[in-house]
Amino acid sequence: MSDCLFCKMVAGEIKPDTVYEDDEVLAFRDINPQAPTHVLVIPKIHISTPNDLQPEHAALVGKLYLAAQKVAAGDGIAARGYRTVMNCHREAGQSVFHIHLHVLGGRPMHWPPG
Ligand code: 5GP
Ligand code: ZN
Repeated sequence: MSDCLFCKMVAGEIKPDTVYEDDEVLAFRDINPQAPTHVLVIPKIHISTPNDLQPEHAALVGKLYLAAQKVAAGDGIAARGYRTVMNCHREAGQSVFHIHLHVLGGRPMHWPPG
């Protein structure tokens, strides 16, 4: 999608701080980190919100988690623990409408989230 910030990253028009990439997934550091590790894992295809996921995306969603696992291992936080979050629409805090899995860690996480 031409006017989507994250699609521009996939296309190479904007260069994020990439920490992992494969054929289907891109992971890069959040520009406004909320924890020592704050990485966004995105599919390379445009999907606006979790509500737009289709059955054919099931394996792709699994790959977002497998990428998150690699990101956590790379940052040395896998054993300590980390949080993965995917916000859906504005009340959940979604501000970029291309789905992304937040990977947050490197500090204790609180529950319930705000
Ligand atoms: P959301 O609020 O949609 O769940 O998360 C969007 C995330 O994208 C936010 O954490 C925000 O800081 C991050 N973000 C917004 N613009 C940019 C950008 O240009 N580069 C990077 N790396 N992250 C961004
Ligand atoms: Zn997009």
